[in-house]
Amino acid sequence: MKLYEYQARELLSVAGIPVPPGKVAQSPEEAVGAARELGLPVVLKAQVLAGGRGKAGGVKLARTYEEVRERAREILSLSIKGVPVRRLLVVRAVDIRKEYYLGLTVDRSAKKTVVILSASGGVDIEELAAREPQAILTAHIDPQSGPAHGELARLLARAFPAAQAPAALETLLALYELFRANDAGLVEVNPYAQLADGSLLAADAKVVLDDNGLAKHPQLEAYRNAEEYSEEENTARAAGLSFVSLDGDIGCIVNGAGLAMATMDQIKLFGGAPANFLDVGGSSSPEKVLTALNILRGNPRLKAILINIFGGITRCDDIARGILIARRQADLDLPLVIRLIGTNQKEGTALLAAEGLTALEDMSEAVRKVIEAAQAQS
Ligand code: GDP
Ligand code: MN
Repeated sequence: MKLYEYQARELLSVAGIPVPPGKVAQSPEEAVGAARELGLPVVLKAQVLAGGRGKAGGVKLARTYEEVRERAREILSLSIKGVPVRRLLVVRAVDIRKEYYLGLTVDRSAKKTVVILSASGGVDIEELAAREPQAILTAHIDPQSGPAHGELARLLARAFPAAQAPAALETLLALYELFRANDAGLVEVNPYAQLADGSLLAADAKVVLDDNGLAKHPQLEAYRNAEEYSEEENTARAAGLSFVSLDGDIGCIVNGAGLAMATMDQIKLFGGAPANFLDVGGSSSPEKVLTALNILRGNPRLKAILINIFGGITRCDDIARGILIARRQADLDLPLVIRLIGTNQKEGTALLAAEGLTALEDMSEAVRKVIEAAQAQS
């Protein structure tokens, strides 16, 4: 789950990390109001769930209230990476003398948190890593033993002047605690800015939370941003289905995440393209199949649907009932290929056959059929 900068800043503030004072605004008038409270000059920042806002014209300095109004109007009419800007963060501008990069993420192969640090911050870190790999310093934090202060202090000493190193260490430890306590997947401060008086503050903040950790942090649910997900994904979540939009044309309804992955792989292998990942879960009631079909139907790219069920706890007759209800409720005008195997297969197959639908047993055959059906539609 991605957080907006203004949300990420709240977490940083609570963790005791200095950030410039700021306010959220949704209109040029609100931006002017915020600037009156904060004091000029201010920086207006588009709040979108994407990086590189500066380059896209989404970060602008304003020295007068008239400039605040104009720049706010400009930024609020932008689309950044295809997403319209709806909110601004107005922050008190700071006099940045030097920009550092400070980030934490998970190094899966090391099974540790990795600290990423650079004295050439401000810019795109991926670009910097490609151009000047030696400008990027890293260290690991073992989640079992926690941060090794000495090692981190030595890392920071390679980037920060001696006078700033202790404050940088304090920020890094607070960031790590924020990362750990909230089950984050990424915490990034870029730029971590050094001001004229030598003090350091987080002039930008990005936090991505691990969706699988959210159940432990109900208070973070309030940060969920519907904009991050497609309408289909939001409907699916509300219905308790695990769904991810993809850009192909074959809709998939599968039970179990493993089988859903295997189904997408096989569609690709045989030359097709899946429109989605959808796991209807272990105990699929007819209603779940109905909801799943209704979610898929909303996708205009869809050319055919594959239902692939390996009945264990899931009963094939429940699935068959769901398909039949969906068919009765609205015309299913797309080609539908069904593969049913396992618990109550006979009953499920018979229910479908009574209404003229065939259920296949072999997965490869079903995948080939659905690809043919999709191709015949184009
Ligand atoms: P991003 O482009 O999405 O990463 O947005 P940032 O919040 O990092 O802003 C982009 C750049 O604008 C920063 O790297 C800074 O160079 C500059 N910037 C942002 N806020 C201020 C500020 O208060 N003062 C100064 N001098 N520069 C700023
Ligand atoms: Mn930035």
